[in-house]
Order: sequence, then C-alpha cells, then structure tokens
Amino acid sequence: MQIQKHLLLSPAPGTQRELVSLHYGQPGRGPKVYIQASLHADELPGMLTAWHLRRQLDALEAEGLIHGEIVLVPMANPIGLSQWFLQMHQGRFELLSGENFNRHYPDQIEAAARAAEPQLSQDAEHNVRVLRAALKAAVQAQPVDTELQSLRRTLMGLSCDADVVLDLHCDAQAVLHLYCETPAAALCEPLARYLGSRLTLLATDSGDNPFDEACSQVWWKWAQRFGDRFPIPQACLAVTVELRGQADVEHPLAEQDARNILNYLRWRGVIAGDVPPMPEAVGDARPLAGSMPIKAPVAGVLTFLRQAGETVHEGDVLAHVIDPITAELTELRSPVDGLLFARDNLRFVTAGARVAKVAGLNAVRSGKLLGA
Ligand SMILES: [Zn+2]
Repeated sequence: MQIQKHLLLSPAPGTQRELVSLHYGQPGRGPKVYIQASLHADELPGMLTAWHLRRQLDALEAEGLIHGEIVLVPMANPIGLSQWFLQMHQGRFELLSGENFNRHYPDQIEAAARAAEPQLSQDAEHNVRVLRAALKAAVQAQPVDTELQSLRRTLMGLSCDADVVLDLHCDAQAVLHLYCETPAAALCEPLARYLGSRLTLLATDSGDNPFDEACSQVWWKWAQRFGDRFPIPQACLAVTVELRGQADVEHPLAEQDARNILNYLRWRGVIAGDVPPMPEAVGDARPLAGSMPIKAPVAGVLTFLRQAGETVHEGDVLAHVIDPITAELTELRSPVDGLLFARDNLRFVTAGARVAKVAGLNAVRSGKLLGA
C-alpha cells in the first residue's frame, strides 16, 4: 500500500491542510475502486469502517489478492474535522462559505467531451479509457481559488476515473440506505444486497451536484450527448452509502460493513478468491422524489412514537411535538405509506424543521430533491 498526501490550498500563512489517500493494488490491472469516508466530517461510522477496511485490505494485499486498484480515503474532509463551535462538531457545512461539503462538485462534462471527441470510436471500452483520461485532465486543470475548492478538486481527481465510487456517510438516526443515480440503478442492486441495505433512493440529477452524482452523471450525460454516434456505457457506479446514524460507530457494525464491501468487491472481481453468494435483498429501490420529509409545523419538544426501520402507513402518527408552556400536543403524521428510514437526533425542534423521512413508492416531489 502506498500513502499519498495531497496539500490543499493554504487558507492563511503558516496554515496548510493535507488529504491522505491509501493506494492498494495496481492501476490498470483490473477495475478501480474509490472509497472515501466522512465527507461530512461529523458523520463517523464510515471512518471506523475505513479503519476495518484498511486492516482487511492490508491482509489481502499481503496475500497478493487485490487484482485491481483500490483507493481508500479514510478522512475525506480535513477542513470539516477542524470545525468546532462551543464543543459541537460542525462537519456538514464549511463555516467560511456556508457551503455543504457534499454539494457543488465541478462539472467538466462538456470540457472532457470536447477534448475526447476526436479520439472516440465504435469501441465502447476504448471510449471509456479516452473519456476517463480527458475527464481527469479537465478536473486537474481546473483553477481553484479557495481551500474548499481545492478539497473538491483533490477528491474528484482521485475518484473521477473509478469504476466504483463509495462515499460513506450517515444520517442522524437511520437504517442503512443508499443514494444512487437512476441510470446506475441496475449496477447498484448487487451492492445493495451485499451491504444488506434496506433502501436505495434513486434520482437523476437530484440538484446541486453532490459528490457521487458528479462521478456517475458524466457517463449518462455523455451517452445523451453523443447519442448514436459513439457507444458510451455507464462506466461508473457511484453510491452514497448511509451507514445508519451518527452514533452507530461500533466495531461489530463497522467490521461487518467493511467485510460486506469487500465481498461486493470479490463479486466485482477486484479481489481474488471465492465469491460469497449474493445475499437475498432485504430492501428495495424507490424514487428519491418519493422520500417525504416529515415537518414540525410548530416548535417544541420532539418525541418519536415510531422507530427508524418501521413500515408506516399514510396518516400514522410518527411523533409528537409538545409545547411545555401551553401543553399543546401536535401530532406529526406520515403523508404516505412507506419506510420510516431516518429520524433527527435533536429532541427540541424549531417551527418548520424536518425531523424524519419516509420513503414512499411513488415520486411526488420535484425540483431539488436533497435537503441542505
Ligand atoms: Zn452526509
């Protein structure tokens, strides 16, 4: 394994952060897999899973069993790791700009397409190689002005030519679930099974360019752009893996999640050896546009009546919001039949706060589909 250190743009004299990536296997000798943890720096289950992955990958590499290239970034956000305010970790938004660390990844689709077009042919594999090289060059050539932009460029530079991209996040309190773009849904299904995921939320271009979509959307957008002229496959499966809730940072879970990821990579042929049989699905895929936020219309003390992972029906009371001054109790009801897959972990809510999410079967929302 090789350790690479990538300096980020210095935000102030005497201060410079670095991103560390771990490189297993050999480039070009099989599929490339990119795994990063804790892009939202206060979402830590992935960081522990990365530690277990590292131990297992060290052993696999020592036995010569890694056939492709695996890049592991165990702490994807050194900026967010250093953001603390009054004992509270602030890892989701950069305090300088207010921007979400998992939004606004640069779009080099047109630049790479123009650079690659003269070399494209009727050979799909050739086209994938050409487009990957053009994309990587475009990403690396992009100027950056801020430390955050340089972090985004570094992460994209490491990942944009991968066959599989896993971005390890978590929700507040949740069951294991995935986000994936609809054009890669069929590619994602085996991963969901190996991970034991309860839910895959599908969208095509959910808005504001989160990291996973920046990696996967290039392929279906190039396929649209080039139409019948050149064959362009969906050459990247990029998935946001929500490893349950923020407090689910425990060795048994992380060790199992690491093992499941590696089993999927055995199935993909990145790791040699016996391929464990694909588990039965324990969940399904649903439209992100059918994931319904449960809003508190008033402020107060929040108490849930239902657990994350429960199947609920339209009209079921999921939580109460209680005003201790007036003694008024407000019921929060599910707007649809679906899976209550995530809840907030705060227990005092402000008016209008979104406190839970229920995944229904039908797409009913439109516009930007991701929360802040
Ligand atoms: Zn996250």
